[in-house]
Amino acid sequence: MSQSETHATALTLYPEDSREAVALLKQAVPLMVRHNIPPNPVHYALWYTYSKGQEPELNRHLDRVVKDFDCFPPESAAKLFRDYIIRHELEDARAGQQQAINLVDDMERDVSQSMKSNLNFQTSLGQCMEMLEEPVNERLPTILSELQQSTQLMQDQQELFLSQLHSAQNEIKSLRDKLERAQLAATLDGLTKVLNRATFTRLLEHALSNAPHGVALVMLDIDHFKQFNDQYGHPLGDRVLEHVGQVLRNSLPPEALAARYGGEEFCVILQNCPDITNVHTFAEQLRLKIQSLRIKARGTDEVLDTVTASFGVALAKTGDNVESLLTRADDALYRAKRNGRNRVS
Ligand code: GH3
Ligand code: MG
Ligand code: MG
Repeated sequence: MSQSETHATALTLYPEDSREAVALLKQAVPLMVRHNIPPNPVHYALWYTYSKGQEPELNRHLDRVVKDFDCFPPESAAKLFRDYIIRHELEDARAGQQQAINLVDDMERDVSQSMKSNLNFQTSLGQCMEMLEEPVNERLPTILSELQQSTQLMQDQQELFLSQLHSAQNEIKSLRDKLERAQLAATLDGLTKVLNRATFTRLLEHALSNAPHGVALVMLDIDHFKQFNDQYGHPLGDRVLEHVGQVLRNSLPPEALAARYGGEEFCVILQNCPDITNVHTFAEQLRLKIQSLRIKARGTDEVLDTVTASFGVALAKTGDNVESLLTRADDALYRAKRNGRNRVS
């Protein structure tokens, strides 16, 4: 999706100006805190829309979910997000499919029309032949001119058909591009442009089932990020997340994958990693790059602050699955936090 398309989508989803948006967030956030709902983009989108109150059915659903469950089940959140927040985008995709179907129908009609005109041509040729068998001398010019007209008609039809085919091809190509962009967007985290959690889990599972040896996991969590948000506001916090995503994307060795695991937690899957020392070195490089980010006030060169992150690394071993590897990386990350943060464990 291009930048302007992303903005257009965001604008249709969230037409409010920033003051209204802040007011809505001020209603949404305390609700999320009260119901113990983890702050992630899907949940923000749901509770923001809840506060807007324009989707009464969504509000009833959310009320029911928080009443029935102590925590907020991720699958409910995903379903509600699909049904109420990105429904319009899905409708667009359906409209795209319908467009493709119409296109194919049109082509079919064009082909049969072209075939009909071929048939007409054959019939008139046949008639001409029959006439030629009669004593024809005086009628020959008429026959020839009829033949010429039929040929011209057929040629015009074929040209029309060719140009219709050409525009149909262009349209199909643009639909395919759109679909590819939509598929890519569905695997990425919107804010940080690294893989989203669902895709990360799927790919890690795949990597482990293929060949666990050489697979390594780096897990990182921004330090004191809550405090950062409190001090500078959520929008600047979002920009920090974008920058961290960019650092990860720009630092990946071949076959490595970066993902946003949760709010301010990221993971990198490394492949072909012979031993934990290499993983440690890679994580240490990331740590230094994040530490050297300068967080500036928008549109100025004034450095407001820096951020650091803590890292946990783990190397896969035989019998590991997604959960066991994640648990080891997470335990290591916890140790890094406990030992003073801004370090690799
Ligand atoms: P620690 O060093 O122990 O990790 O402390 P922390 O404050 O980073 O950790 P904590 O888990 O207490 O807080 C995480 C914070 O991350 C709180 C939440 O507001 C923030 N956060 C999560 N997702 C987002 C997001 O998408 N945007 C912004 N701006 N903040 C987010
Ligand atoms: Mg965290
Ligand atoms: Mg943190």
